[in-house]
Amino acid sequence: MHKDIATPIRTQEILKKYGFSFKKSLGQNFLIDPNILRNIVSHANLTENSGAIEVGPGIGALTEHLARSAKKVVSFEIDQRLLPVLEDTLSPYNNVSIVHSDILKADVAKVIADEMPGIEDIMVVANLPYYVTTPILMKLLNDRLPIRGFVVMMQKEVADRITAKPGTKEYGSLSIAIQYYVKADIAMTVPKTVFMPQPNVDSAVIRLIKHGEPPVKVIDEDFLFVVTRASFVQRRKTIYNNLQSGLPNGKAQKDLILEALTAANIEPTRRGETLTIQEFGKLADALHPVFAK
Ligand code: SAM
Repeated sequence: MHKDIATPIRTQEILKKYGFSFKKSLGQNFLIDPNILRNIVSHANLTENSGAIEVGPGIGALTEHLARSAKKVVSFEIDQRLLPVLEDTLSPYNNVSIVHSDILKADVAKVIADEMPGIEDIMVVANLPYYVTTPILMKLLNDRLPIRGFVVMMQKEVADRITAKPGTKEYGSLSIAIQYYVKADIAMTVPKTVFMPQPNVDSAVIRLIKHGEPPVKVIDEDFLFVVTRASFVQRRKTIYNNLQSGLPNGKAQKDLILEALTAANIEPTRRGETLTIQEFGKLADALHPVFAK
């Protein structure tokens, strides 16, 4: 086996050799602890027949661990300066493709079709750039990719919101937007000391596994998310109040909102954070005839 990229000494050597300077604006905090990397990869349950999609390989710390565990790895990197570095550090591995692209603009489904033909089990595994965590996850979920799920590092505060259960202060429209597609839990929390440079925030790795069936069937998925977003605009307000301000022309149609809440069996004095996805589903369907565009 080759020497790990992710040790403080080797990372320093590589950065020095290429005169590389970190760009804060690209969320560049590289992992320098092989144990953390092994742990991340083990949570993905990859086999020698799996594929791994990575966002932001950096100098290849996680990429090489994925290359050792999976059949094929495809990594999307936005920073052109890292391409020659990766070419060098990942030269021992012949099962890695680097795509020079902003993940938010990439046609990931096409890349999977081209680069992973015949691979049935695909996971997204990444130490995400924190400034775009939510857009990246929402894009990859909305793209309806043929993947089993995600194991991803992010800011702990965002991890808490994504995995939150009803009735907690972290639970909100982001929890629902994600948990509609996947079962979400925190795999581990991670100390700042395993990064170079160390980030200002705490970090956690979460695991997201796609549902076979959505947790609730609704007439219109987009409208479900309109209703959940409206329900949390002012967290301390009741759902009835929030829907009046958040739905188009809601104030003028208070009575219809009240009727929909009654039809969905939801007390108008409850707050959004107490509703399950199933209750939001019923509510969205009851509001749909009047408020959906
Ligand atoms: N995987 C490496 C590691 O763990 O050491 C680096 C992780 S670092 C937190 C995030 C990486 O994502 C950086 O390499 C950065 O250049 C890259 N990146 C930032 N924004 C990106 C984007 N929109 N698309 C693709 N890569 C991006």
